[in-house]
Amino acid sequence: MKFRDRIARFMYGRYGTDNLFYFLSVVYITLMLVNVFAHSWTLYVLGIAVFVITFYRVLSRNTVKRMNENVKFNRLFGGIKDWFLNRKSRIKQNKSYCFKRCPNCGKVLRLPRVKGKHSTRCPACSADFNVRVWFDRKK
Ligand SMILES: [Zn+2]
Repeated sequence: MKFRDRIARFMYGRYGTDNLFYFLSVVYITLMLVNVFAHSWTLYVLGIAVFVITFYRVLSRNTVKRMNENVKFNRLFGGIKDWFLNRKSRIKQNKSYCFKRCPNCGKVLRLPRVKGKHSTRCPACSADFNVRVWFDRKK
């Protein structure tokens, strides 16, 4: 039997790799690289722990549980990614719009950037409130 077939047979019914696997691998490599300079026993043990968890997941036969872990991870990581994308998009629009949070429902509204005090109505909860815009639209 060829080596590749043996690997294939060994991996049969096991979980394998997913997004969380790649993330954990990056964490492991980062820890090890940092530790080249830091020489920390804690980082070393932490690195080994991450390594063990990573391969435990790859070789695991409990695929449903591993899949759920990956879904949770994707949800968390997707949330962080969205938050950053949101900030980036706001900075881009900052010249012409300002962003104010509705005091009633907490929804963030995009308002045209016109200097002064204005009253506005939240489209989500239709509460009326005043906003003050400090800087006018940049030309
Ligand atoms: Zn509202």
